[in-house]
Amino acid sequence: NCTIAGYDDELAKAIADEGQRQEDHVELIASENYASPRVMEAQGSKLTNKYAEGYPGKRYYGGCEYVDIAETLAIERLKQLFGATYANVQPHSGSQANQAVYLALLQPGDTILGMSLAHGGHLTHGAKVNISGKLFNAVQYGVDANGMIDYDEVQRLATEHQPKMLVGGFSAYSQVVDWARMRQIADSVGALFFVDMAHVAGLIAADVYPSPLPHAHVVTSTTHKTLRGPRGGIIVAKDAGEEIEKKLQSIVFPGIQGGPLMHVIAAKAVAFKEALEPAFKAYQTQVVKNAKAMAKTFMARGYKIVSGGTENHLMLVDMIGKEVTGKAAEEALGNAHITVNKNAVPNDPRKPFVTSGLRVGTPAVTTRGYLEADCIELTNWICDVLDAPGDEAVIAKVRDAVTAQCKKFPVYG
Ligand code: PLP
Repeated sequence: NCTIAGYDDELAKAIADEGQRQEDHVELIASENYASPRVMEAQGSKLTNKYAEGYPGKRYYGGCEYVDIAETLAIERLKQLFGATYANVQPHSGSQANQAVYLALLQPGDTILGMSLAHGGHLTHGAKVNISGKLFNAVQYGVDANGMIDYDEVQRLATEHQPKMLVGGFSAYSQVVDWARMRQIADSVGALFFVDMAHVAGLIAADVYPSPLPHAHVVTSTTHKTLRGPRGGIIVAKDAGEEIEKKLQSIVFPGIQGGPLMHVIAAKAVAFKEALEPAFKAYQTQVVKNAKAMAKTFMARGYKIVSGGTENHLMLVDMIGKEVTGKAAEEALGNAHITVNKNAVPNDPRKPFVTSGLRVGTPAVTTRGYLEADCIELTNWICDVLDAPGDEAVIAKVRDAVTAQCKKFPVYG
């Protein structure tokens, strides 16, 4: 018996139940998506068995001729996707890609300037609890009273603290970042400019969000968010120069990783091929249209959106001053089969585990086939729950409506 079912029924049930949850619940977590069956086929392939320390053509193990093909395909497609001249597809995750960049290009104790977690940045951009905030002297910038990145403030902090690296990118910011302005700020203090484009990589690949590649010295991303590939990380750069490229190569392996996950790299290669198709541009265009339709509906229903709207795939619903907390909203919506995550909003008076906000994103529902009208309908149901989070009758009614809507849009058929 070589299937999980019949051998390990407890695990088989957990896997089957998770598959059913993905079909029955509407997924609005901005960092999630549904990988294609082809991506999953590669990830479940026999490439999982192969050790391949090193890089294509320069391995420390024999028998790498076929995994070399897979990795080379991934590298070349990734370069094409972002107009990059350098690509490393081996980082196991977004966090590891970021760690690689810091450790390759900085010394412990150096100053970095990144966006604070509380204002939309990521843990790995210098949060105190993360290695980026422990190993380096992390100074943090944020957003202004209108929820926009305050470039004058970024410049002021850069001038005051003289960072060795300016970090761009975010996990919860719904506007367009002025990459050119950020590079200018970095240049003014002789800092390197590093962008973590994890959230918007798919939008950038499809040309519906500006690319940081022409401006940054180095760029990282995850491959599983808007890019819709397997879970993993990448590093890319455009004309970074031999010295930086060499440091990046050697920090990933042997610096911080051992054997690359060749099955995941094969899955990245498939995802990048999919992202090069014209259909991917249509998908990402719809992701942004859907997000705009949702933001507009929230605002029409009296819910504030941080920065007043969205130009990408996500938005932050600001519930400061409302009775419902982010935590209570996440729970109530979960009971209605709508999956979101609570999220701190700028100047949030509540604790990080409670929060006054929700982060809502459209990559997953758009993969299912939702258009603006479906998103507007869904947003109105969300607002019905937020208006009365303790009302079980409202939650039950919304759950029925969501279930019917999900049936119309099967994920994997
Ligand atoms: N960078 C950004 C901007 C992210 O939002 C995330 C994930 O949420 C990461 C990095 C980390 O990626 P991973 O979870 O693959 O380590």
